[in-house]
Amino acid sequence: MSATTTIRHRKSISAKLDSLTPVEIPRSGKRLYKYNELPEWQQDNDKIISGYIRETKSVKGCLKSLLQFHNESINIYTHLVPTVTYLVLLVGLSDMFLVPRFPNSTVMQYLMINFFLLGAVLCLGCSSFFHCLKQHSESHSHIWSKVDYMGIIIMITCSIISMLYYGFHDHYLHFKCFTVLTIVLGTICTVFALHDKFNSKTFRPFRAMFYVTFGLSGIVPIVTGFWKFGAYEAVRRVQLKYVLFEALFYIGGAVIYGFRFPEVLAPGKFDFIGHSHQIFHIMVVLGSICHFRAIIGSYIFMHTGMHQSGFVLVR
Ligand SMILES: [Zn+2]
Repeated sequence: MSATTTIRHRKSISAKLDSLTPVEIPRSGKRLYKYNELPEWQQDNDKIISGYIRETKSVKGCLKSLLQFHNESINIYTHLVPTVTYLVLLVGLSDMFLVPRFPNSTVMQYLMINFFLLGAVLCLGCSSFFHCLKQHSESHSHIWSKVDYMGIIIMITCSIISMLYYGFHDHYLHFKCFTVLTIVLGTICTVFALHDKFNSKTFRPFRAMFYVTFGLSGIVPIVTGFWKFGAYEAVRRVQLKYVLFEALFYIGGAVIYGFRFPEVLAPGKFDFIGHSHQIFHIMVVLGSICHFRAIIGSYIFMHTGMHQSGFVLVR
């Protein structure tokens, strides 16, 4: 065998090994993988063709991927940054701004703002963890997907209950009844979300519909408020304008998620930036900001009896 033949032979073996490596050896290195190079359990959205982290089999490997730009990066950071922001608000907002502004606030009155912030931190935080750690292995992905679904249910529950409080703060029976109803619905949703089938690919549109339906249960107390207080006051009690924007963002995000728009129209074109899950994440954050604005407005309305626009809480 000549030297040239040996080199050629080596090159051919090396090429064969290279082509096998991505499929056979799990690792978290810099190489990103294509959809058809992934193990079956990782194949979720066939319209996103490239940019995958293949199963890492290590938490460290997953955490290392935070420093790499891949097709989950925007999903992770669109929820991680708001998680930290809401956490800062949760720790300091009530004590630093709201209580000094309205010293006659009851514990419940300002705790309800923190209640929503806690829901937002849990939801967005669980989502960030899920998107970061789901590439560990099938079992980890399975567990974290349930954590992610639970986070969404917690945020919807906290959002509705905080709105109920400011809407019915002086009609405690209504507040209690609707709160119990929301907790019952949240519990039913949890039972569904923990079922193994809920996480399957074919259930994607159903999942989207499922959360929208739970969120829309908030219509019942709003209609009750209209009947009880009249349109003018009901609108101001819950700051309906922001609640409607919130619903629009959540429903719009869920529809985009369910139909996998826009990657379904151009597979492979939105792998890193602009695919449906990223848009869904951004719309969830926008929806949560609307809710936060609504409850702050409700809180001010509760104390001043009139709507004050803007976030300025100091005299
Ligand atoms: Zn997500």
